[in-house]
Amino acid sequence: MISSLHRPTVATVDLKAIQNNIKAVQTHIPQGTKTYAVVKANAYGHGAVAVANAISQEVDAYCVSNLDEALELRQAGIKKEILILGVVLASELPLVIENQITITVASQEWLNAAQAYFSDLSRLHVHLKVDSGMGRIGVRSLAEADQLIANMLKANIQVDGIFTHFATADEADTEKFQAQLTFFTELVNGLTYKPALVHASNSATSIWHSETIFNAVRLGIVIYGLNPSGSKLALPYPLEEALTLSSRLVHVKAIHAGDTVGYGATYTAKADEFVGTIPIGYADGWTRDLQDFSVLIDGQFCQIIGRVSMDQITVRLPKAYPIGEKVTLIGKDGDKEITATDLANKKGTINYEVLCLLSDRIPRKYH
Ligand SMILES: *Cc1c(COP(=O)(O)O)cnc(C)c1O
Repeated sequence: MISSLHRPTVATVDLKAIQNNIKAVQTHIPQGTKTYAVVKANAYGHGAVAVANAISQEVDAYCVSNLDEALELRQAGIKKEILILGVVLASELPLVIENQITITVASQEWLNAAQAYFSDLSRLHVHLKVDSGMGRIGVRSLAEADQLIANMLKANIQVDGIFTHFATADEADTEKFQAQLTFFTELVNGLTYKPALVHASNSATSIWHSETIFNAVRLGIVIYGLNPSGSKLALPYPLEEALTLSSRLVHVKAIHAGDTVGYGATYTAKADEFVGTIPIGYADGWTRDLQDFSVLIDGQFCQIIGRVSMDQITVRLPKAYPIGEKVTLIGKDGDKEITATDLANKKGTINYEVLCLLSDRIPRKYH
């Protein structure tokens, strides 16, 4: 999609904040832990190439979710290790090997397919995924893990790592978390051949269960400055939200009691009031369920009235502001703040989704 550069709506990303967030986590985990920065989904909407370049000093490697995301980083000149967390089509292995990308292997069936396609897999680097209770991908027993590693070694594949992923590390109740940790720990300890890298910690695990780090962490949402639990659990130390979303009023008018605003005429003015229009809508990821939510103008909350359209929203203003008045949709204005978590709470979802939904139509600027 073409980015709308000639519109005042813009997401500004503070790359320094991302660096600081990584350093904050690193000071709270054992020294020597390898840091993977998770920059999948365009770095959670922040821009994968810009983020990856900015943090190359702070991290050892990157994680993405698929081959195209890995290739985007390689084509941008990123040299460090890139681990793909999802399953890659076996037929795509030449591209993987040529670009020196590390992939996740999650089943014997996948290995069989890879070996049916290609006889020489000696330059392939992999991490084995263990399903310790997440229920998505990975082997589910020590016997399966041992056999799959043995078969990969026999095929001369470089088995660099083994990892798992927690389903509930962001919750107060740790019972499921402990069960997964015990399963994974026992499995790793029982392996005939133990790969050098062992990792289990996403953001939530890294900040609330730092005692469980093996020798690497996979940091996603925390590097962007957001709380993995939303507002359920308090952060153990402060983080800086890296992304702000802003725009400007493009139209301001007075309406009268009885006038309606927007599709479906869902809003009717009870008195004379001022209405401002902002060029952002559900095609930008500012979804329709944000009707009645607020934006910040001149240090005040201004309510979104009427439906969210594809490209425009309308807000009630306390007075007639001029065209061009600044609007903050995510971020601070004066002593008020709107966070991605506030949006998530209004929408009944998680801050991750709010950021990932911000579409390519919104340009990303960096400082
Ligand atoms: C997305 C993902 C992460 C990062 O998760 P955060 O909660 O954002 O830290 C880590 N590991 C795997 C396997 C993932 O899919």
